[in-house]
Amino acid sequence: MKAISLGWGVQSFTLAAMSALGDLESVDVAIHADTTHESKITYEFAARWTPWLEERGVRVVTVANPTVRITTDRAGGKIWIPAFTDTPSAAGGMLRRQCTHRWKVQPLRRWLQANRNGQQVEQWLGISLDEFQRMKDSDVKYITNRWPLIELRMTRWECVRYLETHGLEVPPKSACVFCPYHNRAAWREMKADGGADWQKAVDVDEAIRKVRPPYDLYLHPSRIPLVDVDLRSEADRGQLSLWDAECDGVCGV
Ligand code: SF4
Repeated sequence: MKAISLGWGVQSFTLAAMSALGDLESVDVAIHADTTHESKITYEFAARWTPWLEERGVRVVTVANPTVRITTDRAGGKIWIPAFTDTPSAAGGMLRRQCTHRWKVQPLRRWLQANRNGQQVEQWLGISLDEFQRMKDSDVKYITNRWPLIELRMTRWECVRYLETHGLEVPPKSACVFCPYHNRAAWREMKADGGADWQKAVDVDEAIRKVRPPYDLYLHPSRIPLVDVDLRSEADRGQLSLWDAECDGVCGV
C-alpha cells in the first residue's frame, strides 16, 4: 500500500500533484493528519485542491486525533506544544514537542492500521533535498518511509517551480497558527492580517502561561506576551535577526 503523508505544504502537495499528473506512481491514498489548528488559508487551499487531486485518482483522507486540545485539564497540566519557558536555561528553554506525535503521527497510523489489510505501507514523505537532515526511518515495522523528492533531487524551490510550470497553486506554509517555531515574519504577517488566526494565537499564548509551574510559558522566544512583542522587521529596525528559527517542518510530514 502506498500512502502520501499530505501536510498541504509545498513539498507534500508537490508529491500528491506529481502522482496525480503521472510524474510519480499512483498511490492508494494521501492522508492529511489535521491538527485542526492550521491557518484559514491552509484549509481554504485544501478545500480548493482536494477535488483536483481526487479527479486525478489521488484519494484524499483527512484524519484527526479526537483530543486536539492544546493542554490537558489535569492538575500539573500537560502541554503538547514546544512552548518557551520563562527561564531560558530551564528545561532547555523550551518544552518537549509532543504535538506532532499526538496530532499527526498517531491519527495517521491509526487510519493506516485500520485500512491496510495486513499490507506493508510505503509512506511517502514530502521532504525536499534542502531538508535531507529530516529523513528518518520509520519506527514501526509495518511502515517503510520513502522520500521521492530526495530521489528526484528536488529542492523546495524546484517544487515551487514544478507547481508553477503545471499551472498549479503554490500552497502557503502549513503549520498550527500558534506554533512556537514561527519566525518573526510569520508572526508579523499573521498580526498584520489581524484575523481569527492571530486572535487564536494570542488566546493560546495567554492560556498556556501558567499551565506548567514553576515556569511561565510563552509562544514567542522573547518570552513576553505575543500581543506585546515588537514584530517589526529587522529592516524596519535596522537590526539583524536573533531568533529566526523556523518550524523545522516535521509537521509537513
Ligand atoms: S506546527 Fe508546530 S504546534 Fe503544530 S503540530 Fe507542528 S510543531 Fe506542533
